Amino acid sequence: MKLAILNCLKSNRVCTGAACLKALSERTHSFAPYAGEEIELTAFLRCNGCGTSPREDAGIVEKLDRLQSIGTQVLHLGLCTNKKDTGECPTITQMAQMAQERGIRVVRGTH
Ligand code: SF4
Repeated sequence: MKLAILNCLKSNRVCTGAACLKALSERTHSFAPYAGEEIELTAFLRCNGCGTSPREDAGIVEKLDRLQSIGTQVLHLGLCTNKKDTGECPTITQMAQMAQERGIRVVRGTH
């Protein structure tokens, strides 16, 4: 299974990605369905920050095209992309749609 993880750029100021990677490596939380399955982590990417429109952002388009070209099958959205008080970030929602349009399945959650 070829899998990528998408996280919030703002959260990455304080986040190492360790919890996502631990859950992936131990096949827990959102990665539990892959127990016993070999996984290739194709990418560990961030959005391009708040206030941009993903469809008009050439960098975002390039990143999603790249995920597709390297055969990514599933994109997991990090916990940091869905805040308790405000819900899923609209930028991430759009990026998720763009991934789906490229034939990539989206799973909401990591650890
Ligand atoms: S656009 Fe959303 S996911 Fe990206 S940095 Fe801002 S809050 Fe985080």
